[in-house]
Amino acid sequence: MRALVISDIHANLQALEAVLQEAPPWDEVWNLGDTVGYGANPNEVVEKAQLLGGVIVRGNHDRACAGLADLEDFSESAAEAARWTQSILTGGYRSWLAGLPRGPIQRPDLPVQLVHGSPRDEDEYLVFRDDAQAVLAAGSAKITFFGHTHVQVGFATNGDEDFRLTPLYTSKSEAEYFELPVRRGAQYLLNPGSAGQPRDGDWRAAFGLYDDGRQVFTWHRVPYDVAEAQRRIRRAGLPEFLAARLAMGK
Ligand code: ZN
Repeated sequence: MRALVISDIHANLQALEAVLQEAPPWDEVWNLGDTVGYGANPNEVVEKAQLLGGVIVRGNHDRACAGLADLEDFSESAAEAARWTQSILTGGYRSWLAGLPRGPIQRPDLPVQLVHGSPRDEDEYLVFRDDAQAVLAAGSAKITFFGHTHVQVGFATNGDEDFRLTPLYTSKSEAEYFELPVRRGAQYLLNPGSAGQPRDGDWRAAFGLYDDGRQVFTWHRVPYDVAEAQRRIRRAGLPEFLAARLAMGK
């Protein structure tokens, strides 16, 4: 069983298309949320997400763009993008977003759970080791796939020692992948990174592939047409910062 693990697409159609073109064969999609917000193609991206199907967790931007949350906690540019997304989303897509389930979602038959932020709070950012270790210590699944931080990273424990895991890449512009063997007796928090708005200093679209048979998780990066995604953000009248940051991966 192979799952395409994708998160934080953020209405970036060009990034999503590149991911789907580059991804190795998969059996099921696990979408960790924030399908919309920030980017200029929410309707097109929701349509694709629906067709891809699989397991889809809601993110904080999905909630906000569906009108289920006030925008007080959002930065100015995020709030502006959420209001714009609300104005352009077709009714059917808006109610689909509103109906997405909150994580954690357990994947039947697999020792895996899917969340947007963390198992204890869908809006929590798992950035620091201490928070990650507390979540691992709560021990709800062998592997928890999470998103929300837009960073390709993993945290693991074997009971004695804790580890922070990051993929190593050799280029800044090619399609690349990095394999992480899943060890017996260890527990993991794994973030595939953000497809549509990476913030780990790498502009390439990020995703992951979990292979249950091989017991391997693979981080991927793939170049995409950033210039086109930026053009669309500017044409939509969204904040310039949202276009500029895509090229920086920040
Ligand atoms: Zn996000």
